[in-house]
Amino acid sequence: MLYKGGCHCGAVRYEVRMAPPPKAFGCNCSICSITGALLAFVPASDFTLVAGEGATTDYQFGKKHIHHRFCSTCGVRPYAHGAGKDGAEMMAINLRCLADFDELALPVERFDGASL
Ligand SMILES: [Zn+2]
Repeated sequence: MLYKGGCHCGAVRYEVRMAPPPKAFGCNCSICSITGALLAFVPASDFTLVAGEGATTDYQFGKKHIHHRFCSTCGVRPYAHGAGKDGAEMMAINLRCLADFDELALPVERFDGASL
C-alpha cells in the first residue's frame, strides 16, 4: 500500500510504502510521551519525502540516535529517522499524520524507545 502523510499545514508531505500495519507502536520515550505519536517503522527506502526538506527542524536529544523532524511552521512531527540496530536507516512514521488512515482502530503495542 502507498500511504500519503504530512504535517498539519502541508509544508511537509511524504509517501510511505508499507503493508497495512496490524498495530501501532506507542513509544515511551520522553518526546513521544509528550507528543502522543503512534508509530510504524519502515526502511528508509520505502519512504519518499515529497515536499518539505527545508521546512523541518531536526530535533535531537539524549543519545542523539534519532532525528525527530518537526514542521517549522505548524509544529507537527510527521516522521523521525535514524539507524536501526543493524545500522540500516529506518523511518519512524507517525501514523497520526497519514491521510485517510484510522490509527485509532489499531491495537497499540508498547515500544521501549526510552531505553534506546
Ligand atoms: Zn506544517
